[in-house]
Amino acid sequence: MIKNTIDIRNKVKDSMLSAKVPSDTHDRVGYFFKKTGYTLKGLPHGDSYDGISGMIIFKLKTIFINHKLSTGEKFFALAHETAHALFHSEQGHSSSIHYLKQRTKKTPIETEANKYAYELCFPYENFVKSYRENQGDVKKIASHFFMTTDRVNKRISFLQNRNEL
Ligand SMILES: [Zn+2]
Repeated sequence: MIKNTIDIRNKVKDSMLSAKVPSDTHDRVGYFFKKTGYTLKGLPHGDSYDGISGMIIFKLKTIFINHKLSTGEKFFALAHETAHALFHSEQGHSSSIHYLKQRTKKTPIETEANKYAYELCFPYENFVKSYRENQGDVKKIASHFFMTTDRVNKRISFLQNRNEL
């Protein structure tokens, strides 16, 4: 069942309220990843993985992250794959392997995993607070969340398009 943005946001918010979830973005993503019970590995070296940020193999309960990414992008990819592990492992999806490419096709499942990743990396209320405190300064917001300015810009546009920022 694919959830909408508000459902995903509330899901993340609820799990943050009901547990001692770290406020640091990287720790928070790591915390949710650990709940999946999956193993984390680097993608194998080789050209065939160029352009792939992350990969999940449900059968092996393993998430692979491209070691060439920046730290912020590694955590975004981990958050994205964590969403697949939490929500998509038992639904008999056409493929047992999902890739996160730098240009991901917008299938409903990929969209859902990305929405979850954004909510996990930039929880809505924290993001709005940081946006106001930093008067929309993308660099400052990025360093507050330990994420890339590119992701911050995307988060801003997404929320502005929904009249939520
Ligand atoms: Zn994916």
